[in-house]
Amino acid sequence: MTSCSFSLHGIGVSGGIAIGKTRLVSHATLDVSQYSIAPEHVSAEQDRLDKAIIDVRRELQVLRQEMAATELADDIDAFIDVQETLLNDVSLTEDTKAYIAEHGCNAEWALVQKMDAWIALFGQIEDEYLRDRKFDVMQVVERIVKQLMGKAVDSFPETSSDLHTILIAHDLSPADLLQFKHRRFAAFVTDLGGATSHTAIVARSLGVPALVGMRMARQIVHEGETVIVDGDQNCIIVNPSRVVLAQYRALYQKQKARREALMSLVRRRSKTRDDVDISLTVNIEIPDDLSLALKVGAQGIGLFRTEFLYLNQKTLPDEHTQFLAYRRVVRGIKGKPVILRTLDLGYDKINAQVDMLARVMPNPALGLRAIRLCFAEPELFTIQLRAILRASAYGKLKIMIPMLSSVSEIEQTFDAINAVKKTLAEENIAFDRDIEIGAMIEVPAAALAITPFLKNFSFLSIGTNDLIQYMLAIDRADEAVAQLYDPVHPAMLKLLAHVIKSANRAKVPISMCGEMAGNPEMTRLLLGLGLRHFSMPASTLLAVKERVINTDISALKKLADRILRCTQPTKIQALIAEINSL
Ligand code: PEP
Ligand code: MG
Repeated sequence: MTSCSFSLHGIGVSGGIAIGKTRLVSHATLDVSQYSIAPEHVSAEQDRLDKAIIDVRRELQVLRQEMAATELADDIDAFIDVQETLLNDVSLTEDTKAYIAEHGCNAEWALVQKMDAWIALFGQIEDEYLRDRKFDVMQVVERIVKQLMGKAVDSFPETSSDLHTILIAHDLSPADLLQFKHRRFAAFVTDLGGATSHTAIVARSLGVPALVGMRMARQIVHEGETVIVDGDQNCIIVNPSRVVLAQYRALYQKQKARREALMSLVRRRSKTRDDVDISLTVNIEIPDDLSLALKVGAQGIGLFRTEFLYLNQKTLPDEHTQFLAYRRVVRGIKGKPVILRTLDLGYDKINAQVDMLARVMPNPALGLRAIRLCFAEPELFTIQLRAILRASAYGKLKIMIPMLSSVSEIEQTFDAINAVKKTLAEENIAFDRDIEIGAMIEVPAAALAITPFLKNFSFLSIGTNDLIQYMLAIDRADEAVAQLYDPVHPAMLKLLAHVIKSANRAKVPISMCGEMAGNPEMTRLLLGLGLRHFSMPASTLLAVKERVINTDISALKKLADRILRCTQPTKIQALIAEINSL
């Protein structure tokens, strides 16, 4: 029987084409069949459950061993500890066995019925942290069910030369995604999420095609089906016909050849045709991302999102753990600068394993996030600042503060940093006393009233992901409003122009580290607005460099001004196309 072919559309967050077999992952509503078990077979069915639980324990041990030597070992350990505790819980085994006996049903069905009941109980818990334990329960049950059904959770199918694994998930938090960083897979698809959600950012940093906001993919697509992921056309094609498959294989080869061609630019100096140097740096999430940054010839790290060290943890990372991670990055980048951003934990990165984070709800994008959380939890901030300052003795490290919006916050920031510097000096601990301190411009208030930022900071970096979200009142993680998320909205362009111009006039280096900086379609417009420093995912750096090399800045000014004056979205798009065809 041939399966029917269909396509689904979403939001492309990382371009390119992948062809492979689907692998359904995580947090899925389990779809199991129900069948009767005769009374004389109940005990065998209960044994089947016991065996599956033993197999899952073994599977977790293997996963723990596999990850032991990697950077993620601690994260994985914490995650496995939770799963093992649940596996050892008598209510999981005994209650399920009792259900099998009472209802004369199969183990998978009994387990899912029990899971639903547990989840309902969790739902009534007021404490956010405890309530979210339901996700751990779901994951554990999913593992056992897969064992019962003969499918191991973490066995990624072997890949042949052109067939790879396509991960399909309903939703994955950045914490979930971190666990996949060491796995090979060809593409990534989720039902939820917007283009600049943090999950999308991590997906992009993996350098594979990725689509989010697919809505129903996890429900409609089955395990092991052939799928084409087209990250440029924002769609997946499930069970493609032979003709479509052949066309996409040809496109895939072309894409591979282009990627190889771009690699020839690695050593080229990043300067425009009219000799203007443009600095291209990379955004990283974990120290392991360094290797890709070096491979593409980045001039440094323009944004190290340190919050990823805090995810998948039962407790907060201590000073020494953080120090080692920061030192590894600063040493690894071989003398180039690293801009390390202080903790920006927020609503979409949380997996609530750190109970303090329960405090960021209920309107988290506007709530106790980033520097606000650090001020509310001074101990948390001090530990990180100590670790950063200690690592600054080993290379060119700069500190960047997220989400600042007012003069009092600026003052509080410097007070906190100076206090930590003072204690380190008293303790005779080495650190860079002249360490540069910068701020992210990602709240409209900071962008509009930029003068105190120019006066106080050594450099600034525009976080367009949040700036757009707050400027246009659009949740960056919500696919329902994703179509409204417009980096070239006239208001955004005016704000960007104002920020870049003000910083250039004040001779304060200004960079952009939001996702807009890594979009080659935006490169010339941004150069035309006066931007000279870009930081982006490593996977997009060479395409942006290609644009830079082929650009004559002096030819851009007029068109960039016209785009700035324009209020019609379609006209703006047409003018951007024109600037890109110069
Ligand atoms: C931004 O907001 O643009 C940014 C770079 O930071 P993050 O995406 O981590 O919020
Ligand atoms: Mg931000």
